[in-house]
Amino acid sequence: MTFDVDAFERVVSDVVLPHARTIDANGEWPTEGLAALTAAGVLGLTVASDQGGGGGSMADAALVIERLATACGSTAMIVLMHYAATAVIEAHGPAEVRSAIGAGSHLTTLAFSEFGSRSHFWAPAGTATIAGDRARLDARKSWVTSARAATSYVWSSRAVAGDAGMTLWLVPSATPGLECGSEFDGLGLRGNGSVPVTATGAAIDRDAQLGDDGAGLDIALATALPWFLVLSAAFSLGLMEAVTSETGSHLSSTRLEHLGVTLIEQPIVRADFARMRLATDATRAFLADTLGALAAGREDAVLRVLESKALAAEAAIDVTDLAMKVCGGAAFRKELGIERRFRDSRAARVMAPTTDALLDFVGRAVSGLPLLDA
Ligand SMILES: Cc1cc2nc3c(=O)[nH]c(=O)nc-3n(C[C@H](O)[C@H](O)[C@H](O)COP(=O)(O)OP(=O)(O)OC[C@H]3O[C@@H](n4cnc5c(N)ncnc54)[C@H](O)[C@@H]3O)c2cc1C
Repeated sequence: MTFDVDAFERVVSDVVLPHARTIDANGEWPTEGLAALTAAGVLGLTVASDQGGGGGSMADAALVIERLATACGSTAMIVLMHYAATAVIEAHGPAEVRSAIGAGSHLTTLAFSEFGSRSHFWAPAGTATIAGDRARLDARKSWVTSARAATSYVWSSRAVAGDAGMTLWLVPSATPGLECGSEFDGLGLRGNGSVPVTATGAAIDRDAQLGDDGAGLDIALATALPWFLVLSAAFSLGLMEAVTSETGSHLSSTRLEHLGVTLIEQPIVRADFARMRLATDATRAFLADTLGALAAGREDAVLRVLESKALAAEAAIDVTDLAMKVCGGAAFRKELGIERRFRDSRAARVMAPTTDALLDFVGRAVSGLPLLDA
């Protein structure tokens, strides 16, 4: 399915944005928005064109995620996780699933985080045991975005052979033995449908394995991780753009009537607004440099990718916090949509790899140390 940019823009402004407030208020799954985005070719954007997809690059996907995040963080996160999982399937998955994603009839997501190892996605405790041509999965996944709506999960387990290592699987969500937890009721991204998924003897085909047994971490680091980190930076940038624009409108149109001036004419308020713009523009420049480094195969590309999510996540937290301050009581109420972005922005800090983990990875990368201890 071809990606139609004009149709995408119309869907964002006519469907995604108008539903965003209700989705947040009620913790609703964004049914209408996703259906319209699917029709515009958004779900198939990153699948190769010879598999019927849009043949889009990571930079194209980043534009989509940024734009979606300006309108509805929950919808942006659903599409982000779909693109991150699709990157693994594109590299190691079967042609029929790639074509289904390309046609927009298959939503996928990552099922990495577990109750036991928490944000340490590189250390799954869940197992896979082989019996003939079947693999039996047992695990307690703690957070799976889109869990109830997805067609498949890109799933991590311990390696089948040996104590160490990780293996990836393409798991149909309808597999008997999988059970989704109760509804998501979170601080932000309230419509992203992220719930725990438990596997109890869930039997899948042996050939649903993605890549070699034990090679799962290398595959995740080479495919899902770069897409997730860069798109997460685009997601945070979209939130920043939305609050900065909303803040600018509010400050320019709200008057201190007894003084006969607008809020933006107050120097301290103006300086805070300038800080918001600076942080947003700096994040945009950093994201563009990261995408440029990847496209050119620059030596610092891996470092930029690791830095991008941490930098953007923390910048979005600062920018949305400043917006809450300078817009005062109007931001505290829901009408400006600022407090929603303030809440939504906090997810990226704790989504794995968390800011703390990324700081450790960046420190290791610039010191010549391995990202993870053996
Ligand atoms: C909205 C949302 C959607 C999500 N969707 C998905 C999904 O689709 N798929 C998926 O697999 N996961 C998903 N996750 C889970 C996410 O990736 C993280 O695994 C989860 O948020 C981590 O929470 P935790 O309480 O388990 O973290 P914990 O591991 O308990 O960490 C708590 C804090 O301790 C810090 N910390 C932990 N270990 C260290 C360390 N060694 N050094 C320094 N600091 C450390 C962390 O940085 C964090 O700040 C989602 C999370 C959210 C919030």
